[in-house]
Amino acid sequence: MAPILSSVNITFLGTASAQPSKTRNHSSLALQLGTDVWLFDCGEATQHQIQKSTVKMGRICKVFITHTHGDHIFGLLPFLASRLNGAGGVAEGLEDPRLLQQLTNVDPRDAVEIYGPLGTRAYVRNGLAHTYTLLGGPYVVHELRFPNDPQSGDHTDMPLGAMELPSGRNITQFNGVWPDIFSDEIISVSAAPIHHSVPCVGYVVQEKPVPGKVDPKKYIPELKRTNSPMSLMASLQRGQSVTLSDGTVLEGPPRRPGRKIVILGDTYDPSPIASLAEDAHILIHEATNAHLPGIDPNTKAADSYEVLEERSKSRGHSTPQMAGLFAKRIRAKKLILNHFSSRYPGNDDTDEEASKVMRAIGGLAQEKFGGEVICARDFMSIGVPLSEEGA
Ligand SMILES: [Zn+2]
Ligand SMILES: [Zn+2]
Repeated sequence: MAPILSSVNITFLGTASAQPSKTRNHSSLALQLGTDVWLFDCGEATQHQIQKSTVKMGRICKVFITHTHGDHIFGLLPFLASRLNGAGGVAEGLEDPRLLQQLTNVDPRDAVEIYGPLGTRAYVRNGLAHTYTLLGGPYVVHELRFPNDPQSGDHTDMPLGAMELPSGRNITQFNGVWPDIFSDEIISVSAAPIHHSVPCVGYVVQEKPVPGKVDPKKYIPELKRTNSPMSLMASLQRGQSVTLSDGTVLEGPPRRPGRKIVILGDTYDPSPIASLAEDAHILIHEATNAHLPGIDPNTKAADSYEVLEERSKSRGHSTPQMAGLFAKRIRAKKLILNHFSSRYPGNDDTDEEASKVMRAIGGLAQEKFGGEVICARDFMSIGVPLSEEGA
């Protein structure tokens, strides 16, 4: 019987698009799964944001990169250096006693696993090598290869560094997606391409089915009537059936679907991930640009919504309405918007003007979606409860 995740929680570490602002840092979010934490994107200064948040650096064991635009990956090297107790090294040929000591202590199970498109491995390997960064623990990079990518090589001739495990996979698509790039007894992750100005990926995190909710009123009178031990409740809770002394059979509740969280990178059209993303409990979708006449003083007089949408698409991005329509299409239960232009303030929890702007952006998505919409801000934390209903 697989253990159940004690809690699932999303903390936004950065919610800005291309440029950060006083109130929004570059893209990154932390998905807390019980005691483990996975990062999605790692823009510049993500490690600073981690320090300011309740996310525990030492618990981060996987990093999923949506695409290699700098605002999503520039923070990865400093994050790795901190997470794996890196140190400044010395030039090749000189003996560094720390390196020898570190090499004898490598346990592959401690590796930070990184997933991302082609270029992620080269970026990390070259960046660490050229900055003489010595890591104190191992990492590995798995790349999601698009059909047009070269199917061999890593975009680098540089050999693996001391702490890069050689077990990094190149994962090819199957029916246009990357199914189960990671899977254990509790959770699986699949990925699919989404349309942006460069190769870009969305991730679907799916918890496996969990035991149903036990209604004690249904079972306890029967257990008492037959003088059965109350410990049988544990078996029922696991969904098993129990035969009582008089032959009565009690069936545990049916299993319920696990939580499904869809995290998209930058996109002007995420259609290729639609079937994988269906019925998501949470959809996280970018909304870089919005048309807000009367609310945003920078709105160009000549702009209409249609003009703005075309401009946004041509740059690889979405409007709140586009995000809302996609949420509706996949029947998401909740939509969280992120990756906002630096003109949209992230202090809407304390500032009335900012709140007006962000409420308007959320409203535009809500009109198309019909369900609950939240505009992410830095350090916002959202719990993801299990649904009540059975499978
Ligand atoms: Zn971006
Ligand atoms: Zn981008």
